Amino acid sequence: MNDGMIELDGSEGEGGGQILRSALTLSILTGRPFKLINIRANRSKPGLQPQHLMCVRAASTISNGNYKGGSVGSAVLYFEPGAVKSGKYTFSIGTAGATSLVLQTIYLPLALRCDQPSEIIITGGTHNQHAPCYHFLETTWAAYMGRLGISIELEMIRPGFYPRGGGEIRAIVHPCSRVNGLTLTSCPELTTAGGFSAYAGLPESVGRRQARRLSMRLKSQGVESHIPLEEWEAANPGTVAAIIFRQAPVPPFFFGLGERGKPAEAVADDAADEAIAFRDAKCPVDPHSADQLLLPLVFSPDASAYRTSEVTRHLTTNIETVRKFVDRMIEVDGEERDHGTVQVAARL
Ligand code: ATP
Repeated sequence: MNDGMIELDGSEGEGGGQILRSALTLSILTGRPFKLINIRANRSKPGLQPQHLMCVRAASTISNGNYKGGSVGSAVLYFEPGAVKSGKYTFSIGTAGATSLVLQTIYLPLALRCDQPSEIIITGGTHNQHAPCYHFLETTWAAYMGRLGISIELEMIRPGFYPRGGGEIRAIVHPCSRVNGLTLTSCPELTTAGGFSAYAGLPESVGRRQARRLSMRLKSQGVESHIPLEEWEAANPGTVAAIIFRQAPVPPFFFGLGERGKPAEAVADDAADEAIAFRDAKCPVDPHSADQLLLPLVFSPDASAYRTSEVTRHLTTNIETVRKFVDRMIEVDGEERDHGTVQVAARL
């Protein structure tokens, strides 16, 4: 493989799968190969897991790339990209691994390096812990991408929950000739919320309890809400409690997920805790979008500035990963866990 290879250490910063996914995307977009060691060293089950391996395969498939070290449990990966090709791609994770993260690994090269749309179908989990869920992609992420000039159509064919997965999402990624910068530094007061309480393979009473708790928690903070019930069909039982603030410039989406033995009220509390912390911070960009926006914005010629309710380690780690591939001034003025503004300088 190529000698001018970028070296990355997967134990640095957040130490999870995001370093790998960002490196794959950046490598394809810059044409620079990389070697990643200590993959996911900070996780209890380190190394490549099926979801991460699918990201490697997907990145290599769309870019005619080569890789070495790509098997489950691998701690080292070499990746060398080729030329990106639009097309119809189907990726099956084979577990309940997050479909959203596979899509987020490949959408940007397909949008920026192709002159035809691509269709991507991914099977696996659609609502996973610690990952964007399908409805976050649809409500929040696709809306941000639209502001940046990247048009992505999304559809959930069926939901998939841990442990069986079996969910399926479909995305159409349209070509984008220029990414717009983003300036988003203020947020109006958030006094109303929407969302939903979804349940699959479980009694309606579980959905009702989630919805009641969401509304009660929000009302106690002065936020009026309307939370409809949704009954879904999935390969195994699951629930989602979701809150959306439609008054925000780009509506953020917060969710909690059911688990065996976890009370419906605790599922709603997971969503409510995050949503209320966001509302109280009076910042326009939620913590998850803050790390996900960075990659597309460094491929815009424009300057960007966005204020987030929480500077996370995912964000600071992503900045470090970007710096290995792209020479661009990126600054954050806040401390980790506090709110802060991310600034990306205009391309010189
Ligand atoms: P690992 O198993 O190594 O933790 P991973 O590959 O599943 O890895 P991370 O490296 O932790 O994941 O990256 C998770 C990504 O999912 C980040 O971009 C993060 O912002 C996003 N994310 C996590 N939780 C949410 C959420 N509730 N809503 C939206 N996005 C989320």
